[in-house]
Amino acid sequence: MVTGIYIHIPFCSRSCAYCHFVTVPYDEGKIEKYGASLVKEIALYAQSLGKEVEVDSIYFGGGTPSLLDPRDIEEILNACRDHFAVTEDCEISLEANPDTLRCDKTTAYRNSGVNRISLGVQSFHDRELEALGRAHRMDSIAESVETLKTAGFTNINLDLLLGIPLQTAESWRAGLERIPNAGFTHVSVYMLDLDEPCALSAAISEGSLAVAEDDAVAGLYLDTIGILESYGYLQYEISNFAKPGCACRHNLKYWTREPVVGFGLASHSFDGHSRHGNFRGMERYLQALRASCLPVQWRKTLEEEEILGEKLFLGLRLNKGVRWTDLERAHSRDRLREYENFLRELGDEGFVVWEGSDVRLTPEGMLLSNEIFQQFV
Ligand code: SF4
Repeated sequence: MVTGIYIHIPFCSRSCAYCHFVTVPYDEGKIEKYGASLVKEIALYAQSLGKEVEVDSIYFGGGTPSLLDPRDIEEILNACRDHFAVTEDCEISLEANPDTLRCDKTTAYRNSGVNRISLGVQSFHDRELEALGRAHRMDSIAESVETLKTAGFTNINLDLLLGIPLQTAESWRAGLERIPNAGFTHVSVYMLDLDEPCALSAAISEGSLAVAEDDAVAGLYLDTIGILESYGYLQYEISNFAKPGCACRHNLKYWTREPVVGFGLASHSFDGHSRHGNFRGMERYLQALRASCLPVQWRKTLEEEEILGEKLFLGLRLNKGVRWTDLERAHSRDRLREYENFLRELGDEGFVVWEGSDVRLTPEGMLLSNEIFQQFV
């Protein structure tokens, strides 16, 4: 079994106005305790497996992992290496915010084995960054990319947000024009999600900030696919674009339902059959590990129906889509027929394409993916 490891680093120096992630205010004392608990959790989990497991991707997500001292990152990576068979070519990604990268720190991350950075840029315009409540500003973006390159990083993802308050078609396109020759191997374009309450959704409801109409944002998303392709970034998932050979190995595991074990607060794990999730509260998480217990809050073994639903809503996120004959080999014909009829109807409306036994979303279907996937949940 080859697995990926996800490590959640929940600390942030400030709270962005649109944030829905599980975060904790930056506190050096807490970071120390948390790091020690992560190391313990990794050891406990590996012991519970009772066999050596190969790991070919490790992903530090957050929060803001780049707030951590490189020694902390190294200790956590060493724990992974001590307890798992980490492959020579393991992809080791770390999410970083542009305002947190200094030369010595970045070099130390690289020396500890981190070989991929996901840079949370979100926008190339100061007033948009301000509306989002981000800590960084435009001038730190180019600086941080240079710092990363000097430290020897050759695999850098650019994270962008579409649908931000004050964003215009011109500001979005001007941001995209900065990408060629900037040294990014991968671009992620996420739609700003304001479905859950946050400071930004409150400001929009009160009328103190506004976002573009959905149709305008949808038009920009469709344009972006072509623009990024013309720069050499091929779309491989609804929100992800990569230079050839640079798709994120770790994130692909989620969409192809390969095992990923999550460590840290609120992290989720999948072992190929069942899923489990960790406590979301810091105190409960630390307490469980003080008692030498895994900090697991819930576990679920998946029923056949749920497995089929997952194969559809995760597989259809990918541009290569889903091979229907693979589903026919593994699942009941009745339920599949129902889904096939649904997807054939969407084909007539231009939201999916059938090619032989392969079915995939069109760009217009990707825009409606949340609604389409409801059918499979
Ligand atoms: S840096 Fe990311 S995780 Fe932290 S508050 Fe901002 S959006 Fe949330």
